Amino acid sequence: MAGKKKSPTKKSLFEAVFKNSVEAIMILDSRDHIVEVNFAACKLFGVKKKKLLDRVMTDFLESPLNWQVVRERAEMQIKQPQGGMKIVEYSQVKDILPHYNLLVLRDLTNFQRAAIAELNLHHRRAELLAEVTLKIRQSLQLKKILQTTVSEVQKILQADRVLIYQVFANGTGMSISEAVLPEFKPILEVEFPEEVFPEDYRQLYSQGRVRAIADVRAADANLAECLIEFMDEWQIKAKLIVPILQNSQAQNEVNGDRLWGLLIAHQCQATRQWKDGELELMQQLANQIGIALSQAELLENLEGLVAERTAKLSQANRNLEQEISDRLEAEAALRHSEEQLRLIANGLPVLIAYVDQQQHYRFNNEAYQIWLGLSPTEINNSHLLKVHGEQEYQQIQPHVETALKGETVTYERDLMLQDGSMHSLNVTYIPHIQEEELVQGFFALTSDISDRKAIERMKDEFISVVSHELRTPLTSIHSSLKILATGKLGSLSSKGQRMLKIADEQTERLVRLVNNVLDLQRIQSGAVKMNKQACHTRELIVEAVQTMQTLAHEQGIRLLIEPGDFVVWADRDYIVQTLTNLLSNAIKFSPLNSAVVLSAATMPQQKNPDQTSTRSYITFAVKDQGQGIPQDRLETIFERFQQVDSSDSRKKGGTGLGLAICRQIVEGHGGQIWAESCWSRGSTFYFTLPELIPSGSDRHD
Ligand code: ADP
Repeated sequence: MAGKKKSPTKKSLFEAVFKNSVEAIMILDSRDHIVEVNFAACKLFGVKKKKLLDRVMTDFLESPLNWQVVRERAEMQIKQPQGGMKIVEYSQVKDILPHYNLLVLRDLTNFQRAAIAELNLHHRRAELLAEVTLKIRQSLQLKKILQTTVSEVQKILQADRVLIYQVFANGTGMSISEAVLPEFKPILEVEFPEEVFPEDYRQLYSQGRVRAIADVRAADANLAECLIEFMDEWQIKAKLIVPILQNSQAQNEVNGDRLWGLLIAHQCQATRQWKDGELELMQQLANQIGIALSQAELLENLEGLVAERTAKLSQANRNLEQEISDRLEAEAALRHSEEQLRLIANGLPVLIAYVDQQQHYRFNNEAYQIWLGLSPTEINNSHLLKVHGEQEYQQIQPHVETALKGETVTYERDLMLQDGSMHSLNVTYIPHIQEEELVQGFFALTSDISDRKAIERMKDEFISVVSHELRTPLTSIHSSLKILATGKLGSLSSKGQRMLKIADEQTERLVRLVNNVLDLQRIQSGAVKMNKQACHTRELIVEAVQTMQTLAHEQGIRLLIEPGDFVVWADRDYIVQTLTNLLSNAIKFSPLNSAVVLSAATMPQQKNPDQTSTRSYITFAVKDQGQGIPQDRLETIFERFQQVDSSDSRKKGGTGLGLAICRQIVEGHGGQIWAESCWSRGSTFYFTLPELIPSGSDRHD
């Protein structure tokens, strides 16, 4: 029998399978009692076979209740005699034989543990990533962010070295942050030579390439010889490289993302198969660093902007402070000058006021209170009518209106002051004209001229009395001289006759002077009543010319007339006197053989004395070719005793009263008198009189 191999029976074969199966196999009866188990099952339960047989399955389970929900395939937890439990996957085949069930069990404990460990690792990575991300987002200090990143990554990956390599614009670069195990050489602040990091690598990384090299020496790593040497120097066996791309805010970057640097993990102890999760983590962190870089750049820009803005604000602040101090100074100066002005305005013995366009007082000096007893509150912002009352307002109103039309007005009026005394006032309104000729109001200046008036009156009275007293003796002296000149009382020597002639001439001049003074006095005082009637201009002019013809002839002057054909409302004698006065002056001041022209015409528009009136005026003109009158004397010559040349009175026998008398007469007729002249080319004297239009209803007093 020896040597002959007996083929096993089926039964023995099944038994061998049952016994040696690595899967635990159990047979249970219909009441879950364990009927048979194999060796693997005993190992799984951790007890000997006999401790299992005849026992109920649930006795060994961690959660027996689960067993009752009998399923064909499920998991269960088997208690271990030394404590703990095993996780088991089972499949059940019911009724393999009537009332017997087959249970095949597989130990999942180790597998599950590995899965849990993997899960935990994953979880830890996720947690760390979140932590690092938070730190990156919270921190604005780039250096700190980078250091945190390398330290954390080194811990998570259990790598020997993790570093951040910054790529410079010139193609070189440097390791700027590093976390390395103490047994390996640090690479911090080491500049990588260009050949280690050539342009084409940079290109690839710029496009987001990731490199995971399990073994730097392996053929598939495909590393250049110089690079391998470099790796050896730093003991690098495996490496993982992810690019850090920065989304640049800089305007000159055409492409949004640029390669800022690399996040690199080194394994130095041994080669390493990098896992997807690890790669993913590195990438996510590199992204976060990219964000942090943008943030830092933004912050830098922001800080720059803030600094710039702060500088501008500080400058603006300084300017403002300067402006405020300037303004305060200006205000103080203004206050000071206002105080001074007020002091001056209040100190002056005149009324000073400002009246606006609506005729409201806007300013008054203290004299208003002293003179009129009106307090500033009673006057300020009040209308002239309210302040002065109806009667007084009527007197001043026309002047106020003239001033508000933009013309300076001067007039005189009498006023009773608060102490009851009557005073003569001289009032001047000066219009306040702003751009575009707009009248804003007027300044009113009122001075008390009572004293001057009193003196004038006294002077006039004195002159009048003296003149009256002089006239009688003068007349008799004149007559006596005339008689003497006839020679009836005895003949005189020729010298005596010359003396007599002088005496006669001077007496005549004195008579004229006295007569003029008296005339003027009478007209001024209103003692003379003008006897007005319709007068033809021609008749007036002809009469005046006839009166002066002899004198003109003597002086070799031609008198020409252009008398017109108008009728004026005038006192004939006085107007002839006016014309004669003007003619006599014209003859006096004309050169030999020149002409004097007398004319009457309708009034030139600009000299109409009363523009609101519908009355028309006739203008008389006496034009000579004499020496002329300087511009600055054209007004003053109408005042008493005013002569252009003081020697005129002597040379020409004048009194300096003729034009003053003319003005009194013309103004007494409601007309105006004035002179125009060109120095050395002659003068023209004009005066106006109201025209009488026969068919019209114009009434004159
Ligand atoms: P008088 O008696 O001195 O002429 P008037 O009052 O008539 O006094 O004139 C005043 C002054 O005006 C004269 O002294 C003279 O200086 C000047 N005057 C008047 N008329 C003329 C004129 N036609 N040409 C130049 N000067 C004149």
